[in-house]
Amino acid sequence: MNSIIHLLPDHVANQIAAGEVVQRPASVVKELLENAVDADATSITLIVKEGGKTSIQVIDNGSGMGDTDARLSFERHATSKIKFAEDLFQLHTKGFRGEALASIAAVAHVELKTKTEGEELGSHLVIEGSKTVKQDPCVTPVGTSIAVKNLFFNIPARRNFLKSSSVEQKHIIDEFQRVALVHPSIAFKFIHNDSELFNLPATNLRKRIVGVMGAKTNEKLVPVKEETDLIQLTGFVGKPEFAKKSRGEQFFFVNDRFIKHPYLHHAVTSAFEGLLKEKSYPSYFLYLKVDPKSIDINIHPTKTEVKFDNEHAIYSILRSSVKHSLGQFNVSPVLDFNKDSSMETDYMQHKKGAKIPSIEVDRNFNPFKAEVSSHTSAKSPSKNHFKSKSTANWESLYTDASIEENELMDIEVESESVSPSLFGGQSSSYQSSGTFQLQRKYIITSTKSEMLIIDQHRAHFRVLYEELLKNITAQPALSQQLLFPLKLQLDSNEIRVFENLKESLVNAGFSISEIGEDFVKINGIPNRLPESETSILLDQLLSDFENDIPDSGFDQTDRLAKSLAKSMAIKNGSLLQKEEQIELVNLLFSCKEPMLTPTNRLVFVKQSAADFDKKFM
Ligand code: ADP
Ligand code: MG
Repeated sequence: MNSIIHLLPDHVANQIAAGEVVQRPASVVKELLENAVDADATSITLIVKEGGKTSIQVIDNGSGMGDTDARLSFERHATSKIKFAEDLFQLHTKGFRGEALASIAAVAHVELKTKTEGEELGSHLVIEGSKTVKQDPCVTPVGTSIAVKNLFFNIPARRNFLKSSSVEQKHIIDEFQRVALVHPSIAFKFIHNDSELFNLPATNLRKRIVGVMGAKTNEKLVPVKEETDLIQLTGFVGKPEFAKKSRGEQFFFVNDRFIKHPYLHHAVTSAFEGLLKEKSYPSYFLYLKVDPKSIDINIHPTKTEVKFDNEHAIYSILRSSVKHSLGQFNVSPVLDFNKDSSMETDYMQHKKGAKIPSIEVDRNFNPFKAEVSSHTSAKSPSKNHFKSKSTANWESLYTDASIEENELMDIEVESESVSPSLFGGQSSSYQSSGTFQLQRKYIITSTKSEMLIIDQHRAHFRVLYEELLKNITAQPALSQQLLFPLKLQLDSNEIRVFENLKESLVNAGFSISEIGEDFVKINGIPNRLPESETSILLDQLLSDFENDIPDSGFDQTDRLAKSLAKSMAIKNGSLLQKEEQIELVNLLFSCKEPMLTPTNRLVFVKQSAADFDKKFM
């Protein structure tokens, strides 16, 4: 029997592909601008007529193409940007599919002039609906100029579908801005119907944003900066009082690509909670850099969605960094931790349905100091006033957890040599508490469907930090009087730092009776500070601040809380009793931001039962 399947001719295949890549003139603009950026241009000019319906031209001074490349560039899947499948996981270019030029040329009249450095003559190509109608040498500067005319000339239905020039023009401006905002070091010009809309010289990020969004923007911007293992975040948010009535000025870029991400958008807007008038939208220009391996690179050419491996953590980092910036620049009552729970976000609940219990904690209880009856179990809360309040809710996470706990028992065997005390008579307590310590470093526990591996030092760092901030914002700060005032010998530099920090220290609960030439006398310390460690902690604090004392009160307090919390937090290597483990877990999950340390490191990681199912396949 004759076969009925045949391969489509290239020009038909290209036209079909074009349907995906080229939806409207703005898609052409995006592809051409990105190609110019990929070609390392330092100056790019965009010239558009009639919202791109008549013509779109992009001129760059980038690498240009040799004769053969110029022709090949219009072939489908012709790209210079990747060679191997692995390259997909370390993309540093905008393009990689090798589809754009082929698609554009399938549905428009395209004229290319290009020349590489060192060549006498460049190449001139004219292609109409995938057919090369002209190719000859030409005189042209180094770089590339591509003009795309009469888009969809051969697909009347698509052409009719285009909107008015002004609507198409608006889409083009959007695409132009998205590229210009990520490449401040490239000069851009944009001319529409012979009038210059943008003329952006190479500059820094802030000036570029101002250049793109308008001179008034400058006073509105508050910088955001954060660097963690997971992401590098830079950029700006708009001060809340300038929030707009429309969503126009909201930009996320991931690895220099514009993306839309409702969940991360929520992280940013939630940081503004309580600061905005109703129906107003904060501006933001946020630039995330992540390991290319940790995002799904298979980004559809016209789509702006991205999938992150570690969405929840990124959510928290974003939110806390934006909140921090707003606080630092005195635009947010960030330190008001006693505020109602509207500051909280249910990011842990996103998609998972897992709940962060709202736990009331007795702040005066110190799990690492107090004597706890060694047989207290989480199910007999009456023995311990702290537990009576906190475990009830947290336990709801354990309901139906018996299977996971049994699995944990199996794993526990591995840690036998490290923490033998976890076994034997304690097992009933373990059963009900569902925690154990691994290598004196991690506390392992489970929720309904996930195993949590918690870094004990980081968890305690988070807990103490939030407690200290609370203490600091309590009026007056909770302080304990020392029976014998503490005299610290300091050098003149340390005295200077101490004097600068005096107010914050007092706010934190230190009471300072005397500052001498080379000593300070302290007769009261913050409530939870162990007296025996005060001098070590203060030493550490002074050296933390030695080189850089923040001016703003907010920042000082925040740094102070971080520094104290970090030095007070239990160290890895400390053996924790069962009760202490449970207390810590409970305290952690009563925090506002349990997922991250105050310095934005991960506090715990999760493994779902489904992950294990895969491993045991
Ligand atoms: P991709 O960008 O995905 O590689 P394109 O179809 O957009 O695919 O471009 C195909 C190839 O043409 C690119 O890989 C690049 O080598 C070359 N090219 C396209 N535009 C330019 C330009 N402005 N300057 C230099 N080379 C270009
Ligand atoms: Mg491209």
